[in-house]
Amino acid sequence: MYTALRLQRRLKRELERDEAEITVVTPDPYMTYQPFLPEAAAGAISPRHVVVPLRRVLDRCRIVIGEATAVDHAKRTATVATLATAEEGTGGQLLPYDELVLAPGSVSRTLPVPGLAEHGIGFKSLEEAIGLRNHVIEQMDIASSTRDPAIRDAALTFVFVGGGFAGVEALGELEDMARYAARYYHNVQPEDMKWILVEASDRVLPEVGEEMGRYTVTELRRRNIDVRLRTRLDSCADRVAVLSDGARFPTRTVVWTAGVKPHPLLAATDLPRNDRGRLKCTPELTVEGTAHAWAAGDAAAVPDVTAAEAGRECAPNAQHALRQAKVLADNIVHTLRGEPLTTYEHAYVGSVASLGLHKGVAHVYGRKLKGYPAWFMHRAYHLSRVPTFNRKARVLAEWALAGLFKREIVSLGSLEHPRAEFELAAGGKPPQDPSHNPKGSS
Ligand SMILES: Cc1cc2nc3c(=O)[nH]c(=O)nc-3n(C[C@H](O)[C@H](O)[C@H](O)COP(=O)(O)OP(=O)(O)OC[C@H]3O[C@@H](n4cnc5c(N)ncnc54)[C@H](O)[C@@H]3O)c2cc1C
Repeated sequence: MYTALRLQRRLKRELERDEAEITVVTPDPYMTYQPFLPEAAAGAISPRHVVVPLRRVLDRCRIVIGEATAVDHAKRTATVATLATAEEGTGGQLLPYDELVLAPGSVSRTLPVPGLAEHGIGFKSLEEAIGLRNHVIEQMDIASSTRDPAIRDAALTFVFVGGGFAGVEALGELEDMARYAARYYHNVQPEDMKWILVEASDRVLPEVGEEMGRYTVTELRRRNIDVRLRTRLDSCADRVAVLSDGARFPTRTVVWTAGVKPHPLLAATDLPRNDRGRLKCTPELTVEGTAHAWAAGDAAAVPDVTAAEAGRECAPNAQHALRQAKVLADNIVHTLRGEPLTTYEHAYVGSVASLGLHKGVAHVYGRKLKGYPAWFMHRAYHLSRVPTFNRKARVLAEWALAGLFKREIVSLGSLEHPRAEFELAAGGKPPQDPSHNPKGSS
């Protein structure tokens, strides 16, 4: 989105004269600002405000809702599967191009853990974040209404695997939300819930440095969160999480945030990839050894020219993705105009992370912050980064209103199954999974 946005600004004249055309292929008609997903899961930001509508922002681009399934750069064509090609039963349409920008990001890196594919949930998309919020509140409803202690215990046990940004922030925000929501349940106390963070290495949040990572562990443990370092999830079959330290937790919630890997689309191209599957790129953001192919973000292995040691790549995070996108757009314009290319150069400035309402941790420009100041900095930083003035204003208004009124604790899980009630009324088969049927009609 950032590349297309800058291109449509810089190529305004060419677009008006039909000398250029920008096509954006995207599965969703919106861009997701992922760093806000934990706050969306906690209900602090409405789902609509975490996303930016592409048709409105990229009003001079052609938006194709679909998925690129392969790229033949030698022939300058991409195969794109759209809803229409699915209905027509064709494999996809061929989209010819002159310049290619590949930025499909990353996908969850899973391991062959028994039960994970059936019971695990990721935390990379808006659907997952909102689904998880609804699920957590539903588990509290189940715990509140059952007389079976085993069902209650499993419903109130939440396991998060992976202590990076996504895992720590999602756990921090959801635990905080559930703790608050418990005051509205006559028979669920915060102490009844088990929140467990499983991390294979000996630290969490490597992005904020060692000291702040240690502080995060202490802070989470102070909140009664069971942080298990140097531990792995061995199995979650039959709804029991079995850890490598021998612990077993019956649970209905396993959130998998144990890292990311490059998008599988990259393997369906004829472009060079490194041993970790990212596209090999130059510091000018072209794909190595090819002309007219560009890449940025999590999918691109871009040399970090600011690093002291040679061979380091820019880490997969929003800080680099956003800045690379702009340089990439500028370099496409330079190429079209026969001008020299700009080198992408950005020294990582550090990170901020939220651990729940008014709680956070930060290590930015060498300064370490914790608690409220870090949380405030987290909000200020991401507010400055979320695209468009419209979104900034809406997010700010929501935060301001949240300061005046009580938090939202409602679960709208039934939104995920809008036909369930009608199907039941019409004599159809009701859904089997009670956690997907919050109205309890099964
Ligand atoms: C919960 C969470 C919190 C995070 N917090 C932070 C943070 O605080 N700070 C930070 O720096 N980073 C953070 N990150 C990481 C950051 O969000 C990513 O590094 C960044 O979004 C990468 O940008 P990208 O453009 O490469 O990929 P993405 O933002 O993932 O965008 C890729 C786009 O490509 C689309 N796409 C995928 N496949 C196809 C296809 N086949 N055809 C067409 N389109 C396709 C996707 O739908 C998506 O819109 C966080 C990530 C998560 C999940």
